[in-house]
Amino acid sequence: MFAPCPTDAVPRRLPVDSTVCPPVRLMSPPRGQPHQVCWRVGLLAIHQITTITMTTRDFMTRMSANSFAMCEVPGCQKHRYHFNPWCQAHSQQKYRLGHPQATALRPTAWASRKKEVKELLSTQPGHPGLVAALQYLEKLLRDAEASDGAFKGAIELGRLARSGVTPLEVFIELASCFCYIKDHPACLPADDGTAPRYAMARAVIGLAPRPRKTSSGSLSRTTSTTYSAKPMGPDIRAVGEMLTRTLNPVLIQVYLAIEAREANKAAVVADMRMPFAPPTAALVEELAHSCSLK
Ligand SMILES: [Zn+2]
Repeated sequence: MFAPCPTDAVPRRLPVDSTVCPPVRLMSPPRGQPHQVCWRVGLLAIHQITTITMTTRDFMTRMSANSFAMCEVPGCQKHRYHFNPWCQAHSQQKYRLGHPQATALRPTAWASRKKEVKELLSTQPGHPGLVAALQYLEKLLRDAEASDGAFKGAIELGRLARSGVTPLEVFIELASCFCYIKDHPACLPADDGTAPRYAMARAVIGLAPRPRKTSSGSLSRTTSTTYSAKPMGPDIRAVGEMLTRTLNPVLIQVYLAIEAREANKAAVVADMRMPFAPPTAALVEELAHSCSLK
């Protein structure tokens, strides 16, 4: 049933009804080679298939071994997820918040700071740093609006632009969240600044309503169920890095100005609490007058 391979000096055998080795039938011929391949290429194909199979098996074995280890977060008693050093819940936190132990910050946390930032910016609209920051944000939003693939994270900024969010609104939200994090350094793990960057990006991304998706289970039902689509971790990271790295000098100046305003307010309050000196001179005069009467 087998004949020698015609392209090989060493007698090899191929099926008589085919000029191609069985494993090679499943693969494309090598670049520049006819489909008439010799037995050696067939052996190479078998080797490659075996290698891939072994790699997949090794991959699964290592992932399985990792799942027996415990989550790295202190106090967590769950097993690790996939290749991560954390359990599934803490891996999700790392993906969406930038740190396995980070908590999601709410915009209500920096609502009071937002009023102060708005007031500050309204009094100095021509500040060169603010003008440059707004120009940068304007370009970023327009590029993202034109194409979701303009840069990493453009899908989120494009959604903001299409919802009518202005560069000034983005800057105010960013600066308010920045000031809040500076005021409360313990609110986020600050190992390498990743979690604060994620928090600021999430604050900006949350300025427009999130798109809604239909749950897969509701397709067969008459009433559809929808849910708010969460932003992807890499998009959050990209937006956070872009905004904070470029606008950090202006954000620091906003924070310092608000701190100085707070210090001035405290000084005014301290002045108002200062006790008045007793009217000593008037008392002496009064006593002298009373003595002279006696
Ligand atoms: Zn855990």
